[in-house]
Amino acid sequence: MKPSNKKTGLSTKCVHSGEIANEHGSPHTPIYNSTTFTFDTTKDLLDVVDGHKAGSLYTRYGLNPSITSLEAKLAELEDTEASLVFSSGMAAEAALFLALGRRGVICIGDAYGGTLELLNVQLRSLNIPVHFLLGSELKKLEELLQTGVEMVFFETPTNPTIEIFDIKTIAEITHKHGALLAIDNTFATPVNQKPIHLGADIVVHSATKYLGGHSDITAGVVMGSKKHIGEIWAWRKNLGQMLAPETASLLSRSIKSLVLRVKHQNESALRIATEIEKHPKIKRVLYPGLPSFAGHELAKKQMSGFGGMITIEVNGDYGQTVKVADNLKIFRIAPSLGSAESLCTQPVTTTHHGLTEEELNRRGITPSMIRLSVGFEEAEDLISDLEQALANI
Ligand SMILES: *Cc1c(COP(=O)(O)O)cnc(C)c1O
Repeated sequence: MKPSNKKTGLSTKCVHSGEIANEHGSPHTPIYNSTTFTFDTTKDLLDVVDGHKAGSLYTRYGLNPSITSLEAKLAELEDTEASLVFSSGMAAEAALFLALGRRGVICIGDAYGGTLELLNVQLRSLNIPVHFLLGSELKKLEELLQTGVEMVFFETPTNPTIEIFDIKTIAEITHKHGALLAIDNTFATPVNQKPIHLGADIVVHSATKYLGGHSDITAGVVMGSKKHIGEIWAWRKNLGQMLAPETASLLSRSIKSLVLRVKHQNESALRIATEIEKHPKIKRVLYPGLPSFAGHELAKKQMSGFGGMITIEVNGDYGQTVKVADNLKIFRIAPSLGSAESLCTQPVTTTHHGLTEEELNRRGITPSMIRLSVGFEEAEDLISDLEQALANI
């Protein structure tokens, strides 16, 4: 497709952006299952090596048409100049922090368990200053930024309390102090939230979740300006974090249906949250689309859809909550999200396992919480599944 313009819709970009026309008329970019690419002359090779000409060279560098076509598509999804794909979401975050966060990272709110560990253990072991600020401590942000921190990073909505942070306001504060704002947009997806339009500099995704969407791809992506992406590129190259061309092709295929999938998941999740909130054995439902939810107004302002992630709190103790999870038949217990299959997990047994009671309290996480990832099944079937699981505790 010709480069899209500002008016091109997201669905159209998902289907056509980045795809390479080929002599057979295949609508998909073929899989270039090559580790290296050949040249007729030394000059032709040097033109690519020296960057005088765009071209394929070596797959680990990302200079492979299966990779570059996927990256062109992904950049358009978040309206950035460029993007880089990785072998996982964690690979993407590791390269991001090492390339652009060495003078320090502030992580706001709860983040994915792997991200917290990477920041707290591996980055700190390299003497990189790392600060964690909970949502309730945001007033300390400016003070911390004055220490010369290079990057502010957060997720919104967060996991598992579905906290919503104001991207626009935090972007303004971050930029005032010359730092960069990076957002993990995995939960919202570009369908529901465009952090770049709200002032963020960089967006990162675990493509393992909604972008892949079928529990069959492990991948990650970072999107941003050509300048920032160029700096991250060298780290990816030499850390060897490249995605296999087959996986790149599969991810590109998945993205064609991203808008359809996410809109269906938005719709089902809102119905489930609205219905299950009335259930006598449910104490609380955390979902950005519910008027009862604390972050509802802010979510309405910065999101165009409320997503497929719901956290429910059972009217019961830890044991009864385990029973609800075990009773579920369509929702399967798994520590992932964003797939065709509806999944559930108790934060205290997976994402936040091993935290002290005090730490869980500080983060507002209780043993009665179950995080639901709504899949493609009929919403009515999922509501019935929750009702039968709650009836038998
Ligand atoms: C899963 C996840 C990650 C890590 O992604 P992997 O692909 O498992 O490495 C990072 N952030 C969020 C929000 C996630 O859900």
